[in-house]
Amino acid sequence: MSYVDEVVALVVEKNPSQPEFIQAVKEVMESLRVVVEANEEAFRKDALLERIVNPERQIMFRVPWVDDKGQAQVNTGFRVQFNSAIGPYKGGLRLHPSVNLGIIKFLGFEQVFKNSLTGLPIGGGKGGSDFDPKGKSDREVMAFCQSFMTELCKYIGADTDVPAGDIGTGAREIGYLFGQYKRIRGVYEGVLTGKGLTYGGSLARTEATGYGLLYITDEMFKCNGKDLKGKTVSVSGSGNVAIYATEKAHELGAKVVTSSDSTGWIYDPEGIDVEAIKEIKEVKRARLTEYKNYRPNSEYHEGKGVWSVKVDIALPCATQNELDLEDAKMLVANGCMAVCEGANMPTTLEATEYLLQNKVWFLPGKAANAGGVATSALEMSQNSERLSWTFEEVDGRLKNIMIDIFHNLDDASKRYNLEGNYVAGANIAGFEKVATAMTAQGIC
Ligand code: NDP
Repeated sequence: MSYVDEVVALVVEKNPSQPEFIQAVKEVMESLRVVVEANEEAFRKDALLERIVNPERQIMFRVPWVDDKGQAQVNTGFRVQFNSAIGPYKGGLRLHPSVNLGIIKFLGFEQVFKNSLTGLPIGGGKGGSDFDPKGKSDREVMAFCQSFMTELCKYIGADTDVPAGDIGTGAREIGYLFGQYKRIRGVYEGVLTGKGLTYGGSLARTEATGYGLLYITDEMFKCNGKDLKGKTVSVSGSGNVAIYATEKAHELGAKVVTSSDSTGWIYDPEGIDVEAIKEIKEVKRARLTEYKNYRPNSEYHEGKGVWSVKVDIALPCATQNELDLEDAKMLVANGCMAVCEGANMPTTLEATEYLLQNKVWFLPGKAANAGGVATSALEMSQNSERLSWTFEEVDGRLKNIMIDIFHNLDDASKRYNLEGNYVAGANIAGFEKVATAMTAQGIC
């Protein structure tokens, strides 16, 4: 059995109840096969792959808090510190009822390679809780966040582990978490990113993931002799990533014709009105059915269907496994040229393989949505300097980082005769830097 297959078998055997983690490991390991075969003896001797699939530390803890009726509630908190070979652990905190150890490990594992790809000195980690902020009062959310941070603060710090937001963890939650950290530890430091602008946050962080997705997509088109201008685009989701991806796509001359949420989707042949989506989702916190009030010529459909629309580019920006094999077949049949992932692992393994076989340019999330974490790292730099950069400076740096990411993964794919396979290129480029650092630091 090859070394890659041995390690995948080990992960499957040891983590039977963690399908998302197994899926992520399989996807990464499959594309590292060529690199591993070229270095098999050295990697085996150092158990490099066994170490890379095992988190350095997994912390699970009780989060007791009291609800508005005076009833005590208990959630489970997680922080997986996956790999610190190239810098302090960095990765978001997800607050959602679906959170469990397997999901946090999948996200943490992906984060290691994504953070490496940014070219910035950040290791990989992820955390969260099965707490659901939806429907809770501000006081309940604060009680939860304070209890969560009372335990988490023992393990994090500006130079050790710097969490950020993710699904369910927005500006309000980051504020409560930061306040509690400062209160217990007695230090004012950049221990979290995604902070408010009045206490150390960075301009352009809100826009970063969506804008970054378009910067890298634009670079991929240019390098393949094509232009984004005039292209039709489908976007799924209507959250942070989707909104700013749509905004930047329009700025670059493309036309986004879809938007969705967890209950339905809209088709607007004239191009999605971003300001309307912002008002519906960011201000009113309403459903997409409202969109028709702004654009009478648009269509609203219940359920799933964004990928059935004929477009040149598909940008899945909602959640994991939202684009499956059937969706991929519809996209290919409709002549779609590119799929670039704004969300984390939105495309199933079978769909990814089908798209690659059919020569669709496919940019995986760990490269395409790295703009968020890259800008978080820029927030860390500003905090260390005790300075704030302008929007233009942060946005300019973000753009350069996304362009560099594309060239790094493109070069890596070419070095291993896998030209055009950006999934392999991203995994290889991300892995090489981490593997070199781990080897240099000895068995640890
Ligand atoms: P938000 O919570 O702001 O938005 C998520 C959007 O996806 C919402 O419109 C939500 O609909 C929709 N959605 C959720 N589940 C489903 C589903 N099952 N089917 C269809 N739509 C669904 O999250 P973000 O935009 O911040 O994140 C989206 C993805 O991008 C996640 O995978 C996240 O991990 C990833 N990501 C985010 C980064 C960031 O900086 N924000 C950075 C890197 C990755 P509804 O409103 O109905 O809940």
